[in-house]
Amino acid sequence: MKDNATFAAAEVAARLLAWYGRCGRDLPWRQTRDPYRIWLSEVMLQQTGVATVIPYYERFLQRFADVNELAAATVDEVIELWAGLGYYSRARNLHAAACQLVAEPGGRFPSDLQELMALPGIGRSTAGAILSIAFDKKAPILDGNVRRVLIRLYAVDEPPRAASVEKFLWQRAEELTSAERPHDYAQAIMDLGATVCTPRNPDCQVCPLVSLCQANHLGLAGELPRRQPRKAVPLVRQVALLLERNGEFLVRKRPLQGMLAGLWEFPSREVTDGQPASAAAAELLAELVLSGRLYELGQVGHAYSHFRLEVAVFQVAVTDHLAVGQVAEGQPSLWLPTIDLAELALHGAHKKVWALLASPN
Ligand code: SF4
Repeated sequence: MKDNATFAAAEVAARLLAWYGRCGRDLPWRQTRDPYRIWLSEVMLQQTGVATVIPYYERFLQRFADVNELAAATVDEVIELWAGLGYYSRARNLHAAACQLVAEPGGRFPSDLQELMALPGIGRSTAGAILSIAFDKKAPILDGNVRRVLIRLYAVDEPPRAASVEKFLWQRAEELTSAERPHDYAQAIMDLGATVCTPRNPDCQVCPLVSLCQANHLGLAGELPRRQPRKAVPLVRQVALLLERNGEFLVRKRPLQGMLAGLWEFPSREVTDGQPASAAAAELLAELVLSGRLYELGQVGHAYSHFRLEVAVFQVAVTDHLAVGQVAEGQPSLWLPTIDLAELALHGAHKKVWALLASPN
């Protein structure tokens, strides 16, 4: 990849900083230099928008005011507070990193790139954000917003995740970052991506970089970044059972390791190739040592990053059952009334399963 830009890096930083002074957003994590709070906000923002993050951020800090309180909690408590934000590995990594930090002699928060990147869940861009925002150190950032701005600024007309593009963008991010005001620069370029150079319909008219931007000159602003060629996403079919007994429903907790660890769900299992969903549901009922008539409620879909899930949902009024311990299969299981289910940390796909009962059409 070649840098065909005709402008000086310092010009970009100067324009961004002037714009940030006029238009920067006032966000809760902007009122602090506490690295714990900056870290928390950056992790929450990794795959989630600002409006969704704000209430989670505030609740989280009310419960875990500092890294010691976070480390002292159980991973279950952390996941419960995270429920609904998605990408739960972020919560588990946050907790694991907090435990690692408090175990260090002195318990100080690292202000070095390599030390930060050695913590679970902190990649180069998050480490760069913590260093620049909390410690005012020059460190490049390449989160989704910054990536989009740079791809347009340099008119990168190639698949955005290609290794050559990745290398090119990190080099440009490094060059552009202000050495004098890294704290403000980091927030300025993130804000520009979030509010002006948006994924659809970038508002180039008000952009401080418009006269430098190569995508704008080439009429490509709305077309870049190009779409990354998609790999075929496999489909996984499941059945889930809404088992009802005396107004209560059976839920079980997922193991603490692996996907959606520690979250709750209704009993479910995969449907094998060619198997009717009703047959898989009957097998699952038998595995649980329960009996009752299966009534098919409908189907829900849920997209994960590496597969698509299709869940056929069956309701069963349980007529015969054994003790809870015998349906648990080694995982904690509970019969809960609907009022408690509303509070439970169900994972996203099974929130949809539960919603189906309220609106079966
Ligand atoms: S001019 Fe338009 S495309 Fe270029 S950086 Fe600004 S908003 Fe983005």
